[in-house]
Amino acid sequence: MTKARIAVVGGSLGGLTAACLLRDSGHDVTVYERSDRELEQRGAGIGFLEASSRYLVERANLALDEVSIATDYIRYLERDGSIAHEAEHRYLFSSWNAVYRRLLEHWGSERYVLGAEMVGFEQGEAGVSVQFEKQTVEVDLLVCADGVGSMSRRELQPDADRSYAGYVAWRGMVPEADLPGDLAASLTDAITYHVYANSHILVYPIPGLDGSVCAGDRLINFVWYRNYLEGGDLDDVLTDRNGVHRELSMPPGLATDHHVAEVRATAAARLPASLAELVMRTEQPFLQVVYDVEVERMAFGRVCLIGDAAFSVRPHAAAGTAKAADDGWTLAAALDADGDVEAALKRWEPQQLKLGKDLLERTRRVGRRSQSDNSWAPGDPELIFGLHEPGQ
Ligand SMILES: Cc1cc2nc3c(=O)[nH]c(=O)nc-3n(C[C@H](O)[C@H](O)[C@H](O)COP(=O)(O)OP(=O)(O)OC[C@H]3O[C@@H](n4cnc5c(N)ncnc54)[C@H](O)[C@@H]3O)c2cc1C
Repeated sequence: MTKARIAVVGGSLGGLTAACLLRDSGHDVTVYERSDRELEQRGAGIGFLEASSRYLVERANLALDEVSIATDYIRYLERDGSIAHEAEHRYLFSSWNAVYRRLLEHWGSERYVLGAEMVGFEQGEAGVSVQFEKQTVEVDLLVCADGVGSMSRRELQPDADRSYAGYVAWRGMVPEADLPGDLAASLTDAITYHVYANSHILVYPIPGLDGSVCAGDRLINFVWYRNYLEGGDLDDVLTDRNGVHRELSMPPGLATDHHVAEVRATAAARLPASLAELVMRTEQPFLQVVYDVEVERMAFGRVCLIGDAAFSVRPHAAAGTAKAADDGWTLAAALDADGDVEAALKRWEPQQLKLGKDLLERTRRVGRRSQSDNSWAPGDPELIFGLHEPGQ
């Protein structure tokens, strides 16, 4: 197709991957990111599926072991620390920071506009006017990768609001070097789970804050799913130490002392000693609220939604960044195949809608089994991470 002028709004993993792919196809692409400085998510871990690593490996010539850590087992612990279940299974883990840094290095800073919050957009016959506080740009295609709180989704599909899943993920990381040697060793060769009434925690190794994957530099990361009732219970845990109410997450260092103390006390009371120690050694536990977002459309003329802006799925398939990347790969391929932006988006939409809906439904089922039905059985193949199906 002819070279299109493209604005990608949202400069996180989904937006950057799509931008790189569209630039590789010869388009004139600029990324606009609301944050006024480069993003930082303090290194929280991500399961690193094939679609999440595909761009870095195929186009940025990075070896997987430069950016991720492999584990060889899935291990479940009983409350007393004994092994309830163990199976050989290889996973790769990375961190949001490590992947972001690599993608941004590859993309470069020239067309990465910081402090650029999109405040509106308007479609005309021949293009889209995208409005930021300080400028308006005219483009042929607007790609909205503005995440779970997407303003573009609100504009395009006001009824597709996010719905609270009933639980949050408490998270944290501890440098492996700060843990007793036998504890660190027991938590680096596997993904380690403990499942108890209406909750589960999982633990895995990730790169250090500087991205290093070397033994000794890595972090041990936990994700602990805990139920909070919508209303006062949830509002309280989402009110930070300065009295500010947050909707999506509680960043490190901002949870109130009483919630941090409760998390540590519950860890001591309910978790196997090794996992409790990890939680208790975490200086600044933080949390992310688990939301479901489902849209009925992703393409609207010359505007499209990708990644969490379209479907935000529960984390139980470790597939959020993989889905966002897949949206980018398929979008670039659709534009390669069709010179007309609107026709290309129309052709692209159905398969990505199906991917999002299927993944959302699967992760809802898995979440229900842990957080409400208590029917989570170690070894069940449905619990294996994957984008298209468990393990795929
Ligand atoms: C507890 C938890 C665990 C997870 N674990 C995994 C995992 O193991 N593996 C995995 O692959 N995924 C995981 N995910 C999901 C993953 O984090 C998301 O799917 C992924 O970050 C989505 O990327 P995105 O680029 O679509 O959106 P985001 O990362 O949310 O980025 C959106 C960007 O848009 C910017 N923005 C927003 N509004 C505007 C605006 N108006 N103008 C300009 N910029 C704007 C924001 O500042 C942000 O940088 C997990 C999620 C949670 C909550």
